Amino acid sequence: MIPYGKQHITDEDIAAVIETLKSPFLTSGPKVAEFEAAFAQYIGCKYAVAVANGTAALHISCLALGVNATSKVITSPITFSASANCVRYCGGEVHFVDIDKETILLDIDKVRDLLEKHPKGTFQGIIPVDFAGYPVDMEAFRKLADEFGLWILEDACHAPGGNFTNIDGKNHLCGDGSLADLAIFSFHPVKHIATGEGGMVTTNDEELYKKLKQFRSHGMVYQGDSALIENHGGWYMELQELGYNYRMPDVLCNLGISQLKRANEGFIKRQEIAKRYDKAFANSNVKIIVPKENFSHAYHLYVIQVEDRKGLYDYLRTKDIFAQVHYVPVHLMPYYKNLGSKKGDCPNAEKYYEHCLSIPMYPTLTYEEQTFVIQEILNFVG
Ligand SMILES: *Cc1c(COP(=O)(O)O)cnc(C)c1O
Repeated sequence: MIPYGKQHITDEDIAAVIETLKSPFLTSGPKVAEFEAAFAQYIGCKYAVAVANGTAALHISCLALGVNATSKVITSPITFSASANCVRYCGGEVHFVDIDKETILLDIDKVRDLLEKHPKGTFQGIIPVDFAGYPVDMEAFRKLADEFGLWILEDACHAPGGNFTNIDGKNHLCGDGSLADLAIFSFHPVKHIATGEGGMVTTNDEELYKKLKQFRSHGMVYQGDSALIENHGGWYMELQELGYNYRMPDVLCNLGISQLKRANEGFIKRQEIAKRYDKAFANSNVKIIVPKENFSHAYHLYVIQVEDRKGLYDYLRTKDIFAQVHYVPVHLMPYYKNLGSKKGDCPNAEKYYEHCLSIPMYPTLTYEEQTFVIQEILNFVG
């Protein structure tokens, strides 16, 4: 069976887990800060906060940014639903804006149109998604957001290591803290770095960083944090806000540290696999997404678009190739339809959904397996 994505666990990974299991800390020990520091270094940001999963990362990010029942936030319909749900957890309203047909990313021109049609202050923030691993042009989004006084929360779950170079030759990694206010990552098994469950928020903003740490652990401020309102002694901790238990256990953080050591290797392997697919499908009926020259795609997913998507999906299953569809447009989910969104709101996303298929993409996909996948797809499309 060849799935669309798969984790890779080595003996070193297993040893790291066992090491922590034998240590005094299963959770909230030294491995949390160690993983955060290593991840921040990999991504090139100042601060990183480890959390229970990517969805928790989105939720505390919205809390730290002050999303509430009066907030209106913009996101893409082609994403995992958590990118939108996090706004709803805080009572805010989600506004889906259509994608660009070529990049499958949130269309910045359509976002601008929407902002210009409403009085300033109508919208508070944007959640762009580095869909499939294609980095959002965050420089352009930053300019737009500044013009309209919005914050940016980058959903970079698909793009650890993804980057782009601007016209001045400056390179930006997804989530490096220089453009978006906050960025989030997930360590779900299908993602680049796999810990089972796990997530991270990255930022360069110290105030947001402090709030994130507070929301991650009940809303509590502990000894050693300067911001205690009272202080009764060494035992004293203070509940200042309503937070959650979204902590990532030490055991999983040490697995993350071990996985992170191979992240760059995996990134390069994904790009190699993508190059071979690009070449194989270049002159066929299979539509591929080729990133612009100055964009380095992280290839969480390799997405193709074909006329008869359902036919190809079913055919590949008969060959034990388990392709997948990413995503059913979020605005067409019954939950969001009940809140007022409908078919026709995002025509590009709806059309993309009719034709898209994510084909096998993971570092341990062998040359032979990839050959087989390519042959079977070309067989089907003729
Ligand atoms: C995986 C994913 C999430 C959620 O991450 P979990 O760790 O599964 O909670 C959010 N957004 C996107 C785009 C994702 O791919």
